[in-house]
Amino acid sequence: MMNTKTIAVLTSGGDAPGMNAAVRAVARAGITSGLRVMAVRRGYNGLLNGDIYEMNLRSVSDIIHRGGTFLYTARSPQFNTQEGVQKAADRCRQMGIDGVVVIGGDGSFRGARDLTGAGIPCIGIPGTIDNDIASSEYTIGFDTAMNTAVQMVDRLRDTTESHDRCSVVEVMGRRCGDLALQTGIAVGATTILVPEVPYDFDRDVIERMQFTQKTGKKHFIIVVAEGVGGVDKLAKDIEERTGIESRATVLGHVQRGGSPTLRDRVVASEMGAKAVSLLCEGKSNRVMVVRDGRVTDLDITEALQMKRPFNKELYDIALKISI
Ligand code: ADP
Repeated sequence: MMNTKTIAVLTSGGDAPGMNAAVRAVARAGITSGLRVMAVRRGYNGLLNGDIYEMNLRSVSDIIHRGGTFLYTARSPQFNTQEGVQKAADRCRQMGIDGVVVIGGDGSFRGARDLTGAGIPCIGIPGTIDNDIASSEYTIGFDTAMNTAVQMVDRLRDTTESHDRCSVVEVMGRRCGDLALQTGIAVGATTILVPEVPYDFDRDVIERMQFTQKTGKKHFIIVVAEGVGGVDKLAKDIEERTGIESRATVLGHVQRGGSPTLRDRVVASEMGAKAVSLLCEGKSNRVMVVRDGRVTDLDITEALQMKRPFNKELYDIALKISI
């Protein structure tokens, strides 16, 4: 028995390339399954202030290749209160919305859990460039962000090499070093600094640089995760200690934008369609995840309690070969 008649979709928290592909999949899978699909603008704020409209199959045309989120996104402090959640649930009931797909990060999933608790079944889809969701091996936007970071560091490398310099590059990732690790490997960084692994300036930066210098290396890339930070000071300290001219670059929000890669479009499409199937089956409080390379789902509350393991084996390999 299918009880769900009208579902809504929103994007919340930080944006990520591929969110549009996920919204498109929710809309198309929902409509072709006989549901009404409502679009909610600006995350939970749209539920609170009724910024909601019904989509048709063409509402999501020409967005699969676009970065950002055409539904816009927001952080909503007002929703993050008991009254806010109640008000959002009341709005859903008033508009006949009996299921919501929330595309965002852990914060957005806490909101989805609370909204489910207030009587509106929710399904989460992980969309964040940081890959920092413990329950999922992969988050939508990560592949695009990594590829952007690699392109940017490749450009820095050209000029770093021409001048025999050291480039200290900050990539995104406040709590999670995955973007730094993957980018660092792909650009051949001499050192990769991530929040998960404490570092020693002498041992992990200076001595590695000096060792490779003795083997003939003249230019260096140091990749630093946002959560480690301090790239200006690091560049200054490196220059003082080694005499090698060093420059700091913060890649910043360029990593958030751009056309999503194939992987992000495909994962987003699969997760979007499967999220709709879950709502049709009467399931709620679930989050789509990649586990052992496959798209599946978990209970949101359990997912939020998981701890993300850092790939230390890959980190050690990176250090071994970037020498
Ligand atoms: P992300 O989803 O990218 O982690 P945020 O942490 O900013 O981004 O969360 C997005 C929104 O989700 C918040 O603005 C808030 O409305 C809602 N949210 C975050 N944490 C909670 C919570 N503990 N309970 C209910 N809603 C929350």
